[in-house]
Amino acid sequence: MSEESTLVSGSCLCGAIQYEVEAINNKIFNCHCTQCRKSHGAAFATQAFANGKTLRFIKGVELLSEYSGHGGIRAFCSRCGSRLMNYAADKSLYFSVALSSVDSLYDVKPIANAFVDSKATWYEPSENITSYSGMPDGALD
Ligand SMILES: [Zn+2]
Ligand SMILES: [Zn+2]
Repeated sequence: MSEESTLVSGSCLCGAIQYEVEAINNKIFNCHCTQCRKSHGAAFATQAFANGKTLRFIKGVELLSEYSGHGGIRAFCSRCGSRLMNYAADKSLYFSVALSSVDSLYDVKPIANAFVDSKATWYEPSENITSYSGMPDGALD
């Protein structure tokens, strides 16, 4: 997969936290895993992989809370609860942002459904993109 990226900016619902990061254009997945469904309170979470080394908080970093468990860190705004990003303790290992938190123009689409083996029983993933039982091959390369 190519590593073309776009500098995007995002924020939480209450606006207290604003960030920018270089998002990788073609590594965007609808993740149907149980952890994403629970933590987002949704049928799935659309996550855009990004270069964690380029993450910069414009404001509100002191309000960022982290839930650590299930193989990574899930970060959210402690004021409004918006889920913002997922990363390993070492942000260079893997890093993704919740695409719904991105405010800047970012003309991309999810390329695949991930972890459909643990999808919600009451939701059918889009058939316009490929579904994978786990993460698509090469997603984390
Ligand atoms: Zn907030
Ligand atoms: Zn997930």
